[in-house]
Amino acid sequence: MRRVGLPYSKILAFTLIELLVVVAVIAILSAIAVVNFALAADRARQVQCAARLKVIGSALYAYHIDYNAFPLADGVAGNRPTPFRTEFGNGPAGNGFWNGISLLLVECGYIQDRSVLYCPALEKRYAARRDNLRYAYNCSTTDAGGYAGSENNLESDSGDVWLVRCLYLHPTTNGADRRKPVNFPHGLDRTMENVLFSNYRVELRPGGETLR
Ligand SMILES: [Zn+2]
Repeated sequence: MRRVGLPYSKILAFTLIELLVVVAVIAILSAIAVVNFALAADRARQVQCAARLKVIGSALYAYHIDYNAFPLADGVAGNRPTPFRTEFGNGPAGNGFWNGISLLLVECGYIQDRSVLYCPALEKRYAARRDNLRYAYNCSTTDAGGYAGSENNLESDSGDVWLVRCLYLHPTTNGADRRKPVNFPHGLDRTMENVLFSNYRVELRPGGETLR
């Protein structure tokens, strides 16, 4: 701060340099805050997603106790269950091997809140197309039908089956076009997904990791 005008003036003012420094500091702090808020929001959605996958895991195992098999995946996007209709690229989540988690879990009372069937990151981003984007469900496991053309998807290191994941096809993707890349909702650059394994654990994994 310095005195301006006449030598004996009582008026104080910032110099241009001082103002520029203040503006620069505020800009830097704002940028840090925005990044931190984005990270916190993304982390919150990941945790909420993992909690939903745990609920789905409990429902799947309860269903399995009652019927001695997991429910079939829903093969066609929409608001009705569509088991036995698994088609490549036409499901509410994936591309044939990964179609939608079954609405039967809700209709049969294993899950009370239907919003559990949607990854919270996608539910917010594509609210108007929610039924195109249910969690992807491994419809190639033997217990869930196994007729989709693949063997059980086992991890070679752990032997665990991947049951449910956040993977999705963009809701505007033509269902028949299998060349379109799948997408992932988590991480600031959207390259991560949560996966529910058959031993009931949920892990955040790099999206697109193949099952070996
Ligand atoms: Zn998710």
